[in-house]
Amino acid sequence: MHEAALTQGLVNILLKEAARHQVRSITLVRLKVGRMKAVEPQALVFCFGAFTEGTLAEGAELIIEPVPAVATCRGCGGDFEVIKFHFQCPRCQSRDVVLIQGDELYIESFDA
Ligand SMILES: [Zn+2]
Repeated sequence: MHEAALTQGLVNILLKEAARHQVRSITLVRLKVGRMKAVEPQALVFCFGAFTEGTLAEGAELIIEPVPAVATCRGCGGDFEVIKFHFQCPRCQSRDVVLIQGDELYIESFDA
């Protein structure tokens, strides 16, 4: 389950940011999660709850905003959504494609 390591990293960043802004408690956290990360939202919520226990983010609501995976085709220049890790241009069938979106995993914002 790679969600545990990912969440631990996110919680570390969150607590560091909270300290920097002298926040006393965090009530809500918005996460951007790219489809390519292939994370289970339930696992993420579970890990978040576990890692924030006893911190100022304990009990905070976690909102996960999925980011669709999008690639650009080097053959025809078109953009398309990558479904189920299928890296092939639907227009020209080229496999020479570059992922331009969908690999993100970061805290977009949080409410204190
Ligand atoms: Zn193409």
